[in-house]
Amino acid sequence: MQFFELSEYYSKLESTSSRLGMIDILKDVFKNSEKGEIDKIIYITQGVLAPPFEGVEFGLAEKMAEEAVSIATGFSKEEVNSLYKKKGDLGSVAEDLVQKSKLKRMSARKYSIGEVYDSMLKISRSSGEGSKNVKIKLLAEMIASSTPLEAKYLVRYPLGELRMGVGDATILEALSVAFTGERKLKESLERAYNICSDLGLVGAVLMEKGESGIKSFKVTLFKPIRPALAERMPTAEQILEKMHGKAAVEQKYDGFRCQAHKSGKKVQLYSRRLENITSMFPDIVRAVQTEIKAESVIFEGEALGFNEATNEFMPFQETMQRKRKHGIEEMAGEIPLHLFAFDIMFLNGEDYLNQPYEKRRKALEEVVAGSKTIKPSTRIITSSPKELDKFFEDSIEKGLEGIVAKDLESHYIAGARKFSWIKMKRSYMGKLSDTLDLVIVGYYLGRGSRSEFQFGGLLCAVYNKKRDMFETVSRIGTGFTEKQMSELKTLLDKSKVKSRPARVDSLIAPDFWVEPRYVVTVKADEITKSPTHTCGRGSKEKGGAGEEDVGYALRFPRIVGEEAVRSDKSVEDATTTQEVLEMYNNQKRVRVEDK
Ligand code: AMP
Repeated sequence: MQFFELSEYYSKLESTSSRLGMIDILKDVFKNSEKGEIDKIIYITQGVLAPPFEGVEFGLAEKMAEEAVSIATGFSKEEVNSLYKKKGDLGSVAEDLVQKSKLKRMSARKYSIGEVYDSMLKISRSSGEGSKNVKIKLLAEMIASSTPLEAKYLVRYPLGELRMGVGDATILEALSVAFTGERKLKESLERAYNICSDLGLVGAVLMEKGESGIKSFKVTLFKPIRPALAERMPTAEQILEKMHGKAAVEQKYDGFRCQAHKSGKKVQLYSRRLENITSMFPDIVRAVQTEIKAESVIFEGEALGFNEATNEFMPFQETMQRKRKHGIEEMAGEIPLHLFAFDIMFLNGEDYLNQPYEKRRKALEEVVAGSKTIKPSTRIITSSPKELDKFFEDSIEKGLEGIVAKDLESHYIAGARKFSWIKMKRSYMGKLSDTLDLVIVGYYLGRGSRSEFQFGGLLCAVYNKKRDMFETVSRIGTGFTEKQMSELKTLLDKSKVKSRPARVDSLIAPDFWVEPRYVVTVKADEITKSPTHTCGRGSKEKGGAGEEDVGYALRFPRIVGEEAVRSDKSVEDATTTQEVLEMYNNQKRVRVEDK
């Protein structure tokens, strides 16, 4: 396929807001792509060059793209910049200026997908002194011989702003339709994606090996597995009932989730967001290399500071300081990190995902036995709500976050929030017992004393997995520090879009819409029914509570923590509509019991 064809599809996608419409367009994209390019097309559509764990970044700032547009079209940098200020999208500026170019245009070169992808890779790989000019030149060259529409996407792609609103779930569904004519393969495709985290690879395997290749997809070392997630419930009784009367109950550590892959001496660590974080935790890498009894293994746990002398756990914030790239070795001495291991997915060539919890746990304990740095999570097995409550209270007393209960029979469910893991966290004195992770979809301008920051609050949403859409649940106007406000303003200005993004469902309009990209952690007093928010509106088939005109909202929402946004969570990791509905029902139940 040629890049101008892909650009035409993208243009159609941009003006489509229905998910089915998007699937239909993407299906044609995949049908028309050839072997060897489908993975690249998928990465481009995701707005990346490679899956997150490969850490390939464009390293191209807006100013550099402005300069490339200027070189390619003959307009001055000032002219490009002033048009950008007016339009708010550098892609549209490029489209416009290529159309009116002051330079003699080379006849359009008709780039193939491969050529565009390779040039973008070159842009990303160029580093060190002089690299800025090399990147600008490479981009300018491409723009100089492209059509206006191609120029639009050539500029948006390396800036990470394709603005088409296509999520991974939509790509998976479109792949199924393109290759089987129906949606039936979606589940198998999702499974394959969940165990390799590489959507391009899934597309390539489907094209080359067909359905059977996808169905026999296996765990691979050094391709991180999308982490299993926990549901939440407020009482021990409910948890045990859901787990058929008996469960393993583990301490819940508030640290940094780490997935370790080891083959011989080679060790890599991945974050919850599937980034490669090997260089940030040298002491854990050493421990996996030397203290783990397995030739090859994939296991995961929570990394956090722990003082063995005092038996004290280090708070999350302090553990996070280690993420900073400087002084990592010094930090390793200061805050001894431990990894509290809680699951194993692969051992000595064998896939453990489909083994029941107890068998995985046994293998995990054997593998980490004797290690100083890596300990199995502390746990009990119980069928007594009283015992569960006591274990929970003990955990809180130790400064931990709560507990995670695990279904003894269940498999490791990659990439999904299922009732095989249920968390219960500290309760805040009668207020909502848990925080929510919300996706920013818009923001408001400041008024009065805040106007200095031109920031007056956020419009936030939850994720409805069934619809693959973000539904608004709260406007947050208070509780920001000045630092958070200015950080948020800077971040959000960059992802501003002109109209409501396609994956956002909202009845209200903020001063500015933004691409759903950032997650904030929020505490609230209560969940209430609401006529203004879309969270949970509509039928149960679509993941709602069943009432057409009634949504759900947060009462007294405020931001938690010092950081403005959660860098460890992606938007699909945010609290879901279904969780909000459950929290609402649990809250009701607690009240009835209170009376
Ligand atoms: P939350 O971030 O509140 O959704 O809680 C789920 C997170 O708890 C997981 O992603 C893990 O990072 C963390 N966690 C801590 N201890 C455990 C444990 N024993 N089992 C599973 N997850 C745990």
